[in-house]
This record gives sequence, structure tokens and C-alpha cells, in this order.
Amino acid sequence: MSTSTEDYYSILEVDRNATPDELKKAYRKLAMKYHPDRNPGDKEAEEKFKTLSTAYEVLSDESKRRQYDQLGHEMYTKGGRGGMGGMTAEDIFAQAFGGSDFFSNLFGGGRRSPNDPLEGDDLLYELQIDFEDAMFGLERKIEIPRSETCSVCQGSGCEPGTSKRTCPQCNGSGQVTMSQGFFSIRQPCTYCQGSGSVIEKPCHTCRGRGTVRRRKTLTVRIPAGVDTGSRLRLAGEGEAGLRGGPPGDLYVRIRVRPHEIFSRDEKDLRCDVPIPFHVAALGGDIEVPTINGKVKMTIPAGTQTGTELRLKGRGVPALTKGHPRGDQYVRVIVEVPTNLSRDQKEKLQAFADACTDNVHPRLKAFIENAKRFFK
Ligand SMILES: [Zn+2]
Ligand SMILES: [Zn+2]
Repeated sequence: MSTSTEDYYSILEVDRNATPDELKKAYRKLAMKYHPDRNPGDKEAEEKFKTLSTAYEVLSDESKRRQYDQLGHEMYTKGGRGGMGGMTAEDIFAQAFGGSDFFSNLFGGGRRSPNDPLEGDDLLYELQIDFEDAMFGLERKIEIPRSETCSVCQGSGCEPGTSKRTCPQCNGSGQVTMSQGFFSIRQPCTYCQGSGSVIEKPCHTCRGRGTVRRRKTLTVRIPAGVDTGSRLRLAGEGEAGLRGGPPGDLYVRIRVRPHEIFSRDEKDLRCDVPIPFHVAALGGDIEVPTINGKVKMTIPAGTQTGTELRLKGRGVPALTKGHPRGDQYVRVIVEVPTNLSRDQKEKLQAFADACTDNVHPRLKAFIENAKRFFK
């Protein structure tokens, strides 16, 4: 790596220990000398003036100056001229190297060698299914965009027939040593991004990446009993790994559409069923829908509205083998007769006339309780 002899200190003609005051004086003197107003049409002076401003901007800011001293001129300026305020040394590194995954690994998670195989990322796919499909399970084809190992170069990134060669910049070590004043720091090689080798001729299909984007169709088997939020894992169906690393996994997250009759309560199902007034009073058999078709249910005589009756084992199939199915709870809603004919009304009136106190015990108890309000 070439080391520039020019740095911000020499541009401002001060030494590295210059105080802020000395810096300011030096800058003012030189800025006056090269100011475009004093050198009309002089491109060289204009360039020089710009460089001076940049140098002074960095060295006059305490934190920028510290970073500049740590990184050295070349590293610092590679991160983009000026406007470095608020950036950490890591940001500058990452920027200088184009934010490759090597650096996000290096500074994000654990430090790893850039030649290590890297596992592919996991993918998440949201799948909406019908309520009844969640009850019975189903097979669904889904199409996912993902990266796959390039089949032309088998992931190496090299055009078939060619191979990687040792990085000429760092001789394969992946690191370069830079000296700046008293400091000598080892840095990842920019030429090979720290891997120690470079691709001679990039694969024409993946352009050297080793992976290609594909839309892949997969068949997902959704077991009976899944619910909104259930996650299915398809091992190895995620993004391709790098440098021979294994692929990530694909997670399919289920969202179940609501049903017009049934609602779900963990492993139980619930539904409301209206029954005629006379069935509630006299008792009788009614037909009730279940997820597996209709079943007969016996309504006991004197069933009140809102009563919940249980149909054992008619609920949600258990996801785990050997576990029992849930139950179905039927809430009966007693329907008061409407649209009565004259004849029906007369008969109901006759019934009303025949009623005694004990026919409506709740009403009787209520009247007893509320007596003092009826005075
Ligand atoms: Zn390829
Ligand atoms: Zn290198």
C-alpha cells in the first residue's frame, strides 16, 4: 500500500504537536495566501485552498483530530473527505472497505477469519391460510426469493478453469501494517478485503459473488392444529452460505384467517347456536356444526340462553402426537319467537295464563330481592 507523504499537518505546515492556536494561525496565513479572491483563475491555488480548508476542518475538531491521528491520513481520507463528525473508527473502517460482510462480522458479532465458511441467513415467509386448513393441515406451494450457491462456479466466485491467487498486496496474510508517526497499526488488507486471496477472473454468472438470486418454489406441509403465530422451520432452505458454509433456514410464519362460525380458544373451538324457545323449555335434539360436519346435540329441558354445552373431542387437533384433541363449546342462544300469527299469539297467551310462579323461578327470586324497590 502506498503511503502518502502528504498529510494534514504538512499541508498546514505545522508539526504533529501543534496547539489549536498554532493550527489556527497557520491556517489563516495559508488561507490568505491561496484565497481564490487573491488568485483569480489560478486552478492550483484554488485546489490548495480547498485542501487547506479540509485539513483545518479535521485538525481543528478535537475528536476528528484524534481519529485522524489514530487512523493515519490514508485510512481517514478513504472514509470520505470531511464530514466525518460523529463517526467511530469502526464506521470509517467499514466505509473504507465498502461495508462488506466481513467487516460487519468483524465489528458486529464475534471476530472471525474472512476465509471461514459463513452460514447463510435465515429467511422468514408469512403464509396466510384458511381456518379449516389450519384444522386439517395442508400442503402449500410457496415461492421464495433467495440466494443460492452459484452452480457454475460451485460458490467459489471464479470462472470455471480459473482459481484464486494470493493477494499481491498483502502476500496472502490478509493484513497490512501501516506506520504513522509513532503509531504502527495492523489493518485488514483493502485489496483482498482481508481474505488473503483475490479472484483472478470472476465467474460470469455470479460476477464473483459465489451466489445467485433465485425464486424457488417449495412445498410446505402444514400440520393440522397450527395457529396464527405458529412457525414452521424448513432446515437449509434459507439463504445460501458463503465460502462453503451451510445455508440458513426458512421459517414459515402462519396467519389463520378468521372463520364465520367458529372461533378458537387455544385447543378448544367455540360457536354460538340459536335454539327455539320451545326447545329450550321442553328439551330436544338439535344439529350443531363441527369442523368435521354436523352432529346431533341434546338440549336438556329448561336450558337458559348463554348456557355452554361441551362436545368432547370436537376441538382443535393436537399438534403434538399423542395429545388429545380439544373440545367444542356450543353456546346456546334462546331465540324469542317473532312474527307470530294470530293463532300462535292466542296459544302463547293461553300458555302465559297457565303459568305459575315456579315456571319462572329466576323471575320469582328477582322480584323477592327487588321488592323494596317496587313499593
Ligand atoms: Zn458463479
Ligand atoms: Zn490482501
